[in-house]
Amino acid sequence: MSIADNLKIIHDRIAAAALKAGRDPATVRLVAVSKIQPAEAVVEAVRAGQFLFGENYVQELATKAAEVKEPVEWHFIGALQSNKVKYLAGLVTLIHSVDRLSLAEEIDRQWGKLGKSCDVLIQVNIAEEETKSGTTSAGLLSLVRSVAALPHLRVRGLMTMPPFFDDPEGARPYFRELHRLAGEIAAAGIPGVTMAELSMGMSGDFEAAIAEGATLVRVGTAVFGERQYR
Ligand SMILES: *Cc1c(COP(=O)(O)O)cnc(C)c1O
Repeated sequence: MSIADNLKIIHDRIAAAALKAGRDPATVRLVAVSKIQPAEAVVEAVRAGQFLFGENYVQELATKAAEVKEPVEWHFIGALQSNKVKYLAGLVTLIHSVDRLSLAEEIDRQWGKLGKSCDVLIQVNIAEEETKSGTTSAGLLSLVRSVAALPHLRVRGLMTMPPFFDDPEGARPYFRELHRLAGEIAAAGIPGVTMAELSMGMSGDFEAAIAEGATLVRVGTAVFGERQYR
């Protein structure tokens, strides 16, 4: 199957999941996760009408972005070290993975140099898994308050990666919990903070995430096929 075929199938599945949940399919955006995939795969997706891509590794993104001449939008979705933030400034339109104040401060500093603001999501590690990044649910409100006080950063929502389950229904309570947490943050009425975006759901479970309110689904394998690590 070609990338174009895969994209068509995923868009049909997104639309079906949204309608089933009583949602407008246009409220769900597909972030095609192109990590480990070559620039040619991105270009192929662009030709099939996909313009939004997610990447996990700073160096890989910088190299790929220079190779892809088409007008695409990049999101950063991976674990981020503060000393690499400078390479992302001006290159990405959304960072999904802000999980600590020191990282937010560096984003603020780098975007400030450009005289711009960076849209970010706060990543929440709901299950508190050792292997995953993200703030705890308990630490979320105070982190959002601190991040919101930075002038060159806008908190636009939340992101999560639930524990792995073979059955996507296993992830659903975590998606529901992220939605609930977003409601709690929105109710706190913190100036400059909106909870417009919920980034949740991957190849194996994006329909469950849409049922629970996802506005950004991050899908890699189902778009591009298996990643070939070399
Ligand atoms: C790799 C990755 C994805 C995509 O995973 P697939 O299972 O290939 O769809 C989504 N989100 C994050 C944070 C990732 O690292």
